[in-house]
Amino acid sequence: VAAADLRRAIVDVVLRKAEELARANEELTRSNVELDAFAYIASHDLKEPLRGVHNYARFVLEDYGDKLDEEGKGKLKTMMKLTERMDELIDGLLHYSRLGREELESEPTDLLALVKRVAQSLTPRFQELGVAVRLPDSLPPVSVNPVMLQEVFANLMTNAMKYNDKPEKWIEVGSAAPDRAPESIRRKLRDGDVILYVKDNGIGIPKKHFDTIFQIFRRLHARDQYGGGTGVGLTIAKKILERHGGYMWVDSEPGRGSTFFLSLPAQR
Ligand code: ADP
Repeated sequence: VAAADLRRAIVDVVLRKAEELARANEELTRSNVELDAFAYIASHDLKEPLRGVHNYARFVLEDYGDKLDEEGKGKLKTMMKLTERMDELIDGLLHYSRLGREELESEPTDLLALVKRVAQSLTPRFQELGVAVRLPDSLPPVSVNPVMLQEVFANLMTNAMKYNDKPEKWIEVGSAAPDRAPESIRRKLRDGDVILYVKDNGIGIPKKHFDTIFQIFRRLHARDQYGGGTGVGLTIAKKILERHGGYMWVDSEPGRGSTFFLSLPAQR
């Protein structure tokens, strides 16, 4: 009797905990949805007045330009550039918030062909900058949203090219073993998860920034030195992976290069 009571008591506790967890998860999902909706509305509403400021600066320049000295004109031009930059940031925020609301449609996808398409589209810039791309002979089968995954690889390969000051730059894409994941992520990986990587021999990232680079609008390197950027690319890439039930992380050594890893559930 005592054993049966004990079993019942344990089952009760486990059930109660499971209910609590389910409720917490529901709340978390709801606040994520609300946050996405807020980001969408806020960024949408910010665009219009911003366009107004930009247009007024342009009108003043066009209509009163001959009454202004060079310094005055220069300041108006700077004002226009800054509003254009802010518009880019708002677009990033809009794109990010849309990702959370869009339906995820996955299909069996030939990742190698997808990566080749991305590399092909970047070829002119790769050639101009002397970037060699190394691709594997095959990649494991996965079921993903191909448009989203294309965006992830385009972002990673563009970064690998941008944040590189070596005379001979290279990018390597391949698959890796789960033991390349940090302990916090390895614990969450499931059997058969596919791990991919995009590796470069660029400027690298200090360990203390391994997490911060995935935060929205966070940038480590000067825009002027390494070409324009808004600091949303990696945030979006990580969110895309998470929507697929995967993870993203980085390993790097400053001066020697970075390896961006992504995990995806195996094709079912
Ligand atoms: P950005 O538009 O600035 O490139 P990302 O979100 O793609 O935005 O990247 C965030 C920051 O992470 C970059 O500004 C850069 O400082 C750093 N970073 C990203 N990829 C690399 C890389 N391959 N090598 C070195 N630093 C990188």
